Amino acid sequence: MDNTFFAYRDGGLHASEVALDRLAEEIGTPFYCYSGDALEHGYRSFAAALAGLPATICYALKANSNQAVIKTFADLGAGADVVSEGELRRAMAAGVPTEKIVFAGVGKTAAEMIAGLDAGILQFNVESLAELELLSQVASQRGTTAPVAVRVNPDVDAGTLDKITTGRADSKFGIDAGAARDYLRTVKSMPGIRFEGLAVHIGSQLTDIAPYRTAFQRLIALYHELRAAGLPLRRVDLGGGIGISYKHDLQAQFAETEERMQTYAAMVHGLVDGLDADLVFEPGRLLVGNAGLLVTRVLYVKDSDTRRFVIVDAAMNDLIRPSLYDAWHEILPVKAAPEGTALQPVDVVGPVCESTDTFAKQRPLPPLAKGDLLVFSSAGAYSFVMASTYNSRPLPPEVLVRGGRFAVVRERMNYDTMIGQDRLPDWLSDGAAQPTDQASPARALRHAAPAQPIRSAG
Ligand SMILES: *Cc1c(COP(=O)(O)O)cnc(C)c1O
Repeated sequence: MDNTFFAYRDGGLHASEVALDRLAEEIGTPFYCYSGDALEHGYRSFAAALAGLPATICYALKANSNQAVIKTFADLGAGADVVSEGELRRAMAAGVPTEKIVFAGVGKTAAEMIAGLDAGILQFNVESLAELELLSQVASQRGTTAPVAVRVNPDVDAGTLDKITTGRADSKFGIDAGAARDYLRTVKSMPGIRFEGLAVHIGSQLTDIAPYRTAFQRLIALYHELRAAGLPLRRVDLGGGIGISYKHDLQAQFAETEERMQTYAAMVHGLVDGLDADLVFEPGRLLVGNAGLLVTRVLYVKDSDTRRFVIVDAAMNDLIRPSLYDAWHEILPVKAAPEGTALQPVDVVGPVCESTDTFAKQRPLPPLAKGDLLVFSSAGAYSFVMASTYNSRPLPPEVLVRGGRFAVVRERMNYDTMIGQDRLPDWLSDGAAQPTDQASPARALRHAAPAQPIRSAG
């Protein structure tokens, strides 16, 4: 497939026909840029690959929960996979029909269950017997019934990064397949609960198809067994986790991701042939990962005895994946390097006071200078959503581009908002009214001093 979403034109990188250097001038750096064309393409090709199956595609919001992104998918017919009340609210605010929302997660609170019940969602993916009991209570108390899919832990190793594998016996997710079988065969019904399906999700960024096949086969066998035992199941939720390509040039990335997705879809078609069940898919990264970039500007180039550091204005607070998972993001200059330019290995680092604020070590890049723009590619998933204000750096803005147009879909956080969320207790608020008062720590202590001195118990 030809990637026209991100491409060099007239020597500069463009996203959906918008020049990124112009965007950087207008918006400032760092900023996230998502291609609406790429989002739509990703959704449509996944839907096309599943054509003919009774499938609901529930976009996993946690990968990227900007309203504009969710709305893009909702307009194309997507449902949503949510893992918190906040995500449920985001999905509903963006117009996702509630009958296409599944609520997953190992630690739902009673309040979250109520929110889901009141919204009338498609199903709760229940991950423990204790959760099932609480849901039964909560639903009964409200005089309603909760549609449930039991999330089974199929005990397969997804072969992905340890931190994002979720389907092994030692992982906190799901109910062991054996226990789920024994339980469901005996309990059959429960007040306030409608057992409708089985669910599985074995991890994220899966690049190998074998663990999927094993997990799905186990799930489907269990589905048949439980139906035969009289449980009125009618839905199988195959989760998400399809890996995308992070390496190579931008053209190759989209092609490789597409190929992985097609392999997955072909495997699914084979396994569910003749299965009497509606299907749910929960792709997150697949739909958004390759569709986003983080754009940053070089602040300084600094040489040490052994290496050259390129210090950029984005940091681990903006994009934590390299620090958190040793994840790889391709780094590209916005201004195309002339053909034949020699590359030199550099460390690309951010300004945060942590050594782990390093995006890449000894990465071969064309010569760079202060002011140059770079992009981290494939930063559409698990990127902005994990951003923080560490080092009191405001959250970066998000921009959606589409067919030559752009829109800021989330403003850069301003300093007043950031600081304004703090509150002073009344024993310190004097000092707040006089921020220039040099002596405020001592004064604060005086104000806070209790009438009776507190003696140490020891
Ligand atoms: C995170 C998650 C997903 C999405 O995973 P991706 O790797 O982004 O596709 C789907 N389902 C559940 C239950 C999840 O926790």
